[in-house]
Amino acid sequence: MRLLILGGTAEARNLAAQLVDDGDDVVSSLAGRVARPRLPVGGVRIGGFGGSEGLAKWLSENEIDAVIDATHPFAAQITRNASIACAQVAKPLVRVRRPPWTPTSTDQWVRVADMNGAADAVRSEGGRVFLTTGRQDVGVFADIADAWFLIRVVDPPTGKLPVNSEVLLARGPYGYDDEVALMRAHDVSTLVTKNSGGALTHAKLDAARDLGIRVVMVDRPPEPDGMEAVDTVDAAVDWLRHR
Ligand code: NAP
Repeated sequence: MRLLILGGTAEARNLAAQLVDDGDDVVSSLAGRVARPRLPVGGVRIGGFGGSEGLAKWLSENEIDAVIDATHPFAAQITRNASIACAQVAKPLVRVRRPPWTPTSTDQWVRVADMNGAADAVRSEGGRVFLTTGRQDVGVFADIADAWFLIRVVDPPTGKLPVNSEVLLARGPYGYDDEVALMRAHDVSTLVTKNSGGALTHAKLDAARDLGIRVVMVDRPPEPDGMEAVDTVDAAVDWLRHR
């Protein structure tokens, strides 16, 4: 089969590796947001398609048999575009949607609907904030002067930063001991995170719980109704094989 994987995640890279190994003709698509992306095996294209119309055209021109949307749970636009484009050109589409994190009885989560809600939650308490929401969302916190921020990002943010902040360039996965040490060293009182799910960045939640740190958890954006979805890479491979 000739397959398009919408990627930018560990699941997408794992899926590409499995499918290439099985002999499928795979193209992975990356948005081109990070300077030095981890590249999947198989074919790779980088950059936007030009909305759902552009994606629909690309699928037809490249004779794609099926699309696997393995993008990050917060990459809502490309997921919407994939849903519209695949319906338009009648290509099968499956979403690899890793399960969200859920709090344990001892977690202190403040759940918010979006990034503006997270900024409001930070404004209300101030303190020392560990911001792990990614480069694109830093601007929402830029006008908060009554808190100090440790901003962890893969590439340096390009927009305005909060006046009291320090940027830490790092790329996961992150381990529990390192997360505890980092939060202690910076005397963190609030962790702000998207509900990305998955194991690779979960250690910060364990560390926050054990250190009694408040977690501001941004809920996932909604996805198009009726999307076929699976939880894991293996389930996505099964889905393809059953078609
Ligand atoms: P987004 O807001 O959903 O998409 C914005 C636009 O970027 C899309 O309309 C599309 O442009 C382009 N795009 C996004 N993903 C693409 C892909 N895989 N291949 C080609 N074009 C893509 O996306 P985002 O939240 O900025 O995320 C961008 C990428 O980073 C995604 O691939 C995602 O898996 C990865 N990522 C995102 C996050 C996050 O927190 N959002 C975290 C980790 C990794 P056109 O309309 O021109 O096609």
